Amino acid sequence: MSTFYLYVALILVTVFGIYRYHKSRKAKKRQLLFTLDTPKEWLNYIEKNVAIYHFLPKDLQRELLGHVHVFVAEKYFTGHAGLEITDEIRVTIAAQACLLLLNRNTNYFPHLKTIRVYPGGFKNPKHEDKLGHHLGESWLRGPVVLSWNDAIEGGQDAEDGRNVVIHEFAHQLDQLDGAADGRPLINHAHLKTWSKVMSKEFKSLRVKAKLRNHAFFDYYGATNPAEFFAVISEHFYEQPKTFREKHPDLYELLVDYYKVDPATWLRN
Ligand SMILES: [Zn+2]
Repeated sequence: MSTFYLYVALILVTVFGIYRYHKSRKAKKRQLLFTLDTPKEWLNYIEKNVAIYHFLPKDLQRELLGHVHVFVAEKYFTGHAGLEITDEIRVTIAAQACLLLLNRNTNYFPHLKTIRVYPGGFKNPKHEDKLGHHLGESWLRGPVVLSWNDAIEGGQDAEDGRNVVIHEFAHQLDQLDGAADGRPLINHAHLKTWSKVMSKEFKSLRVKAKLRNHAFFDYYGATNPAEFFAVISEHFYEQPKTFREKHPDLYELLVDYYKVDPATWLRN
């Protein structure tokens, strides 16, 4: 009996050792990727297609480029409906997705392996909306699906509050705990405030959307709490000053979660 337990303990220690070894190797590889020099073409794509980049403080710009290297090395991009994947596509999508990782301890959307890219709006018979097309999707533990046309348009306009890449990757963060419920992994101490502010603001948008009253947030956020979180994340990065002015409590909640305060970034 005791030999049996000895074997079990031995196996556990070995498995744990292998796990630790792989984890530290991965961390070292990421560190190396993070410090690579960014190719000139990559920087050109980001400067041309990711307008928010220009507003970022220098240290966050550097951090973003480091994240882009890791993201591009670790994620697999597939082109669909005739679209061929290029470095411009990889880098433009990576840079927008990695905006959500700035200033935080990150594991780079660990459940996400593949990003499927279509040339424009795509059809998905399982997820048909009223317009019959989709600009983006984020599956639980599955791929993110994006329209390249909309990913580039959303990136080039940094101030209209619409960004399909930020939207879909906010879903990825929300889904890290296994549930698409509009509540990402947050500090336990902040849970009460989070639920209180979120549900109040979500209900208020629902009422406004129903009555077709003017709302700062896109009505699409009234669909459900998961869409609400994705939509307010778009507004947070693209229209931070108005957001802070109109919904200060909610804005603070996101500053606390995303660990950045975009309203303080230099804007025209
Ligand atoms: Zn969504």
